[in-house]
Amino acid sequence: MQFEYCPKCGQHLENIKCGDDDCKICPSCGKIYGSTPFPVVEVLVMNEDNEILLLRQNYISTEKWTVVSGYMTDGETIEEAVSREVREETGQDVIKCQYISSYYFASKQLIMIGFLAYVNKSDFIISDEVDDIRWFKMEEVGAVIAYENNCSGIHFDKCRAYLQVLH
Ligand SMILES: [Zn+2]
Repeated sequence: MQFEYCPKCGQHLENIKCGDDDCKICPSCGKIYGSTPFPVVEVLVMNEDNEILLLRQNYISTEKWTVVSGYMTDGETIEEAVSREVREETGQDVIKCQYISSYYFASKQLIMIGFLAYVNKSDFIISDEVDDIRWFKMEEVGAVIAYENNCSGIHFDKCRAYLQVLH
């Protein structure tokens, strides 16, 4: 995140050194802003029948499906962000989750953190951001998931490899 002005109090930021990196500091409130990318969790949700939950969101695609994802909130762990996003977007409760892989989304300065989350299937309660939702068989996912779009595309091939190790 590169800021010119302090998002908290609006002051023009000044340059300082933080270790080997260039950072910015607010002369008014003292908050330091590094060039750290903004963290986003992407979650492949799996149920007790080994089915995969995918969403469709019109702003990403009207045809392809995607995984649960969302920005991390200040004050929470990555695991808490995973559980919160899954609950908010689908109504499912995460029993446990495990890190899979990450990638850097350069054009938006986001670090995408991929997780696998286990749930016991329950009724969907979807958020306003979700236009459709359903469970897919593992072998169906590769054909329907959106890889190449602006804000989606968990490394499904890595997930699949990972799941094969588990089973
Ligand atoms: Zn400030």
